[in-house]
Amino acid sequence: MQSINTIFVPSAIVTETLAILQKVGRRRSECVVLWLGKRDADRIRIEEVYKPDQVASRDYFRIPEESMEKIFQKLREQRLFVAAQVHTHPNKAFHSYADDEWAIVRHTGALSLVVPYFAKKTSAATFGTDTVVFALSALNEWIEVGPAQILNHYQIIP
Ligand SMILES: [Zn+2]
Repeated sequence: MQSINTIFVPSAIVTETLAILQKVGRRRSECVVLWLGKRDADRIRIEEVYKPDQVASRDYFRIPEESMEKIFQKLREQRLFVAAQVHTHPNKAFHSYADDEWAIVRHTGALSLVVPYFAKKTSAATFGTDTVVFALSALNEWIEVGPAQILNHYQIIP
């Protein structure tokens, strides 16, 4: 259940991700964070969760141009890449048309995780089951990853 594109994310980063999303969610706003990783020989390891400067509201987020430039500069300096994006929804988790259009991650195998209810009902222990996962296909389409396939795409590690 592992490929060269499987993302390994330390549980501490999942906890930190939820803390960021929940803090913004308490203001009843969506939030997006990026999982920045490095590729080893046979896997991708997440090194950091990064909250880009963003414009967001109850059912919307956008990353302005200046913020994108800051992200790319950081990636160059630290030799990281955006392996996945994680964002919240006010209600159910799905990939909206805007999510498809404005996804920051654009490489085949990239992941987009959507956490429902502003992440307020989610803990590190339930992250794997609460979150809906989408992977970008070689045809540039976001495909929902079924529960049986999730471990091929990402795994939470100690
Ligand atoms: Zn969305």
